[in-house]
Amino acid sequence: MSSDIEIAQRAKMERITKLAAEKLGIDDEHLEPYGHYKAKVSLDYIDSLADRPDGKLILVTAISPTPAGEGKTTTTVGLGDALNRIGKKASICLREPSLGPVFGMKGGAAGGGHAQVVPMEDINLHFTGDFSAIALATNLLAAMIDNHVHHGNELRIDVRRITWKRVVDMNDRALRDITIALGGTANGFPRQDGFDIVVASEVMAIFCLATSIDDLKQRLGAIVIGYTIDQKPVHARDLHAHGAMAVLLKNALKPNLAQTLENNPAFIHGGPFANIAHGCNSVLATKTALKLSDYVVTEAGFGADLGAEKFVDIKCRKSGLRPQAAVIVATIRALKYHGGVELKELNVENLDALRKGLANLERHVNNIRNHYGLPVVVALNHFTADTEGEVELLRKSVADLGAPIVVCRHWAEGGKGAEELARTVVDLIDRVPSDFHFVYDESATLWDKATTVATKLYGASKVTADAKVRNQIKKLQDDGYGHFPICIAKTQYSFSTDAKQRGAPTGHEINIREVRLAAGAEFIVLVCGDVMTMPGLPKVPSATKIDLDDKGNVVGLF
Ligand code: ADP
Ligand code: MG
Repeated sequence: MSSDIEIAQRAKMERITKLAAEKLGIDDEHLEPYGHYKAKVSLDYIDSLADRPDGKLILVTAISPTPAGEGKTTTTVGLGDALNRIGKKASICLREPSLGPVFGMKGGAAGGGHAQVVPMEDINLHFTGDFSAIALATNLLAAMIDNHVHHGNELRIDVRRITWKRVVDMNDRALRDITIALGGTANGFPRQDGFDIVVASEVMAIFCLATSIDDLKQRLGAIVIGYTIDQKPVHARDLHAHGAMAVLLKNALKPNLAQTLENNPAFIHGGPFANIAHGCNSVLATKTALKLSDYVVTEAGFGADLGAEKFVDIKCRKSGLRPQAAVIVATIRALKYHGGVELKELNVENLDALRKGLANLERHVNNIRNHYGLPVVVALNHFTADTEGEVELLRKSVADLGAPIVVCRHWAEGGKGAEELARTVVDLIDRVPSDFHFVYDESATLWDKATTVATKLYGASKVTADAKVRNQIKKLQDDGYGHFPICIAKTQYSFSTDAKQRGAPTGHEINIREVRLAAGAEFIVLVCGDVMTMPGLPKVPSATKIDLDDKGNVVGLF
């Protein structure tokens, strides 16, 4: 089989203006093309769609991720193409890939095999420059903070309590913990600092949650960059930074349109992490897609305990978006891994391990149905090594759970391989009304919100924190941030905070190690366990294999 990039480079792409006109009815004048195959959709045009009815929103999520791979993006693309194949007007909404993983280890985030979005190398590398704009806006604010301190510090910012960090879209561990402003008085006041990767930044989260330019500016202004000597919060608006930050983001904010290998519309916009942030593409892109299509398929990051929970409690709560159904992606390989099998043994049939690992899928399915109130279909993303015995066991077990399960072959066959999934999803939406609800009420205290998520979704016995963290949470509650949703940052590999506890652990404690206020994004990050906001590169990074051939083609990108 060809590599992803070979398949992508053979694609017969449509001109984006033609695709937008034929598939979505968008006139040329409302598109801002970036070359022939990518375009931004104008915000005026999006405003003009307000009175149109919304299509149906389908969330793609997954079991707890494993190194074996699950395939949410691939399934999102495959399902979108399949819906179009069975005669539905459907679009997909994805996150933009970060350069960190592209040059590091994970690889691309544009799907795989015959279910990809194109132009794949552009989408994976810079795309329309949105992440650069987000980095610039973040770094402008950082520069203005240090500049304010240098020029007399009228706001009395405590340099030891500045929480705002600079960002870069690269895995670069050398920037995690640094000292800035060395070299004498002309260079400002030295302080300990550090960089985050762009996708972990608050501006990324704000960008993805903003519903308009006005909302974007409000949120940028509300960012808390740190505290004064007497512990009062300092906002971006106190530094008069938010206007200029919005200017840097003005083009980026327009949703990007690209296409799938089968020439169907793909909105690819924004890309926050699913642990430290909410892990979903932009609200603006999702809303636009819903106005222009009858069905919209969107992906949330990591497993259904992280990305999907934040999709529900953060993205949907404030934006008014309401999904009709969820698709949970599972692979036999990953379930066997959850059942205790090691990576190199995953291609060998092992029914016992599969039976054990099913506990992970079972908990996610129950969470989606009971705690998000969504009808759910299990999409078994078929790998060539899956045996008939394993597929049958999985079919039977999921049927016992009372959920439909469909074997999908979109990776090998494109949309054709997911037609049954498309029919099943459409039928489920028609037959089973969604009883969508949030996991917790806005009015619950921050502590109670954390306890609800930990006990109901993660199977934990309780939430713990030391006195310092408890006081911080109490202070945020007292300072008027208690109504914010919480954003739990924990390992994606387990329902617990220990990546090694696969399957469906119960009775564990969720310890909150650190609390961060994201006043502009309007959520409170509760850091539970080790969470990396500036990843490093592996010993042999993917970057060593990526090259440009003498015709100017990118090679070696997955
Ligand atoms: P996620 O969105 O869950 O992180 P992706 O859809 O990006 O997962 O897929 C991860 C990787 O697994 C990609 O490189 C993709 O090509 C590969 N992959 C997905 N489905 C299959 C499959 N059925 N067979 C082989 N490889 C697959
Ligand atoms: Mg993905």
